[in-house]
Amino acid sequence: MAGPLRETPRTALVFGISGQDGAYLARHLLERGYSVHGTSRDREMSGFGNLARLGIRGRASLHSAVLTDFRSVVEVIARVRPDEIYNLAGQSSVGLSFDQPVETLNGSIGGTINILEAIRFLKLDTRFYNASSSECFGNTDDRPGDEATPFHPRSPYGVGKAAAFWAVANYREAYGLFACSGLLFNHESPLRPARYVTQKVVRGAADIAERKAETLTLGALAIARDWGWAPEYVDAMHRMLAFDRPEDFVIATGELHTLESFVEQVFAQFGLDWRQHVETDAALLRPSDISRSVGDPGKARRLLVWEAQTCMPGVVARLVEAEMRRRHGEDAA
Ligand code: NDP
Repeated sequence: MAGPLRETPRTALVFGISGQDGAYLARHLLERGYSVHGTSRDREMSGFGNLARLGIRGRASLHSAVLTDFRSVVEVIARVRPDEIYNLAGQSSVGLSFDQPVETLNGSIGGTINILEAIRFLKLDTRFYNASSSECFGNTDDRPGDEATPFHPRSPYGVGKAAAFWAVANYREAYGLFACSGLLFNHESPLRPARYVTQKVVRGAADIAERKAETLTLGALAIARDWGWAPEYVDAMHRMLAFDRPEDFVIATGELHTLESFVEQVFAQFGLDWRQHVETDAALLRPSDISRSVGDPGKARRLLVWEAQTCMPGVVARLVEAEMRRRHGEDAA
């Protein structure tokens, strides 16, 4: 994809570099000549397995920083003095946020404000990207969510992301910071942990195909999501900070698919009929869930020249291929 990318070497600081998006973003920026720094809550304890899987473990400078601790945030930003900061750290599971609501909310709102305050305190002209989420919208029943769609989050995770979104908008308006939020819809990859439903389905179907299991138990199969491919979504984050002015963007494929059709396609890739192996358990349902979530990426297409290349069937094919290679001792992240 062509786009408005900068030519000069720059320094980026990625909070949450050990996660799925952090690792892909680090690779994306290294490929473009950036000096990349990244944080983990405890650099000594984190294995940075995702960076190793992408073959870039030794190419990023790694720091310890806890987002909710202003001292550690300001120290790492003062040391690196980055041109760009990406905040990708935080409790990222919607399901877990019902069990850890305070941790999730404090991390999202407190962590985001700590970075914004540190940029102000140090008087930097650093550009800031904050990882917001389609979860801010809640259900997108009538039409796909875009930048003007009102928020109605349906989880502690979504509430925290919505609060952080408005904090970013407020600091942009009040202090003129180059600060943007990306309202990203679900994006997947082999780097997703097994807790997430897409990986649960792929690994479950692979186990059944290898006769290590007979059934896979899931929650609501009727929910529908807009699933994209994570390496493409980190490109959109980068484009937001390379754009002329700070704005918020919806990043999505624009396609809606049910979890049932995702499951059907994954099982078919393994030569299986999902109906013979998948059961549902009401115990896995969330206290409140989103039934339909689809985005309108029109603004990103127009202004960032960004468009999703991989929609749900392609995501399924790539996840299944990567899982099969992983099981044969090869890595394919
Ligand atoms: P990951 O969970 O893969 O990575 C997040 C990182 O944050 C972890 O590697 C971890 O790093 C750190 N972290 C985990 N728990 C906490 C916590 N309780 N407090 C502080 N830090 C924590 O997330 P993704 O890479 O998938 O997502 C990146 C960001 O984008 C997140 O904010 C997520 O909510 C958001 N997002 C993701 C979407 C997706 O589909 N993937 C969709 C929309 C938004 P360490 O252990 O090294 O400290």
